[in-house]
Amino acid sequence: MAGQPVIAGSLAGSHLLVVVAHPDDESFGCGSLIAHAVDAGAQVTVCCATRGEAGELSPGFELHGRDLGAVRAEELAAAAEVLGARCLPTLGLLDSGWAGEPAPTSICGLHFDELVDRVGVVLGEQRPDIVVTLAGDDGHRDHTRLRDAVIRAVRHADIPPALYLWCLPRDLMRRWATEMAELRPDTAHLALEIATLGTEPDAVTAVLDTSDHLTTRWTAIRAHRSQTSPYEGLSPALATAFLTADHLAEVSTPAGLDATDLGTRSAPTDLTAPLGDPA
Ligand SMILES: [Zn+2]
Repeated sequence: MAGQPVIAGSLAGSHLLVVVAHPDDESFGCGSLIAHAVDAGAQVTVCCATRGEAGELSPGFELHGRDLGAVRAEELAAAAEVLGARCLPTLGLLDSGWAGEPAPTSICGLHFDELVDRVGVVLGEQRPDIVVTLAGDDGHRDHTRLRDAVIRAVRHADIPPALYLWCLPRDLMRRWATEMAELRPDTAHLALEIATLGTEPDAVTAVLDTSDHLTTRWTAIRAHRSQTSPYEGLSPALATAFLTADHLAEVSTPAGLDATDLGTRSAPTDLTAPLGDPA
């Protein structure tokens, strides 16, 4: 199945590898997709690059002397279990945080080729049929950096798996920014250029109806007790819109095409087909 667009329809028996930057990306991000794939008979493996030690603590959460990275690694393991995925050891990198000079061994501080190599080792060991990573459209520098590394690593794999980016719809992000400006005006995303957050509809190649997995998704999200999810406090309508459909962009990875080309590639635009073939 490698190299085929199998997200829709033929997940049974396939191996889906989810590569994310921080504990919580697998749940705050593509958690419903993971639950959907497991339910459809896929084996899902989560590879997280860091222990998320630069994360901001939820109000009222006490570490009681514990290391935040260790706490978040445990939260990741618990969330993955809820979703039905197994977890690999992290890539051993540091969380770069939102700003400032990144540490040399962080996702953004590490030489890009080395980051690609680390992802490549995991691809070689795991031999997934499908790889999913975040589109990096929420503006976190670790997400975009890791996305670029995953694209490069998949391009260089012996047997390239199908590759999808998990996207935040741009229209929902605009609504999110409006609500968040009232709810939590100090949230880091609001310092970014709001109009650039999220992915335009014409870059999305598949939309999965994941409404059957909403309860599981919330349970996984809430396993990350040390963190405040971006859905906390949203209006029910907007939270439901985010959490009941997953938007994916299939990445073509022939030689010469790189992440910078993603915005210009042509793509089907039928967003109403919940399980349609994304090809
Ligand atoms: Zn993240």
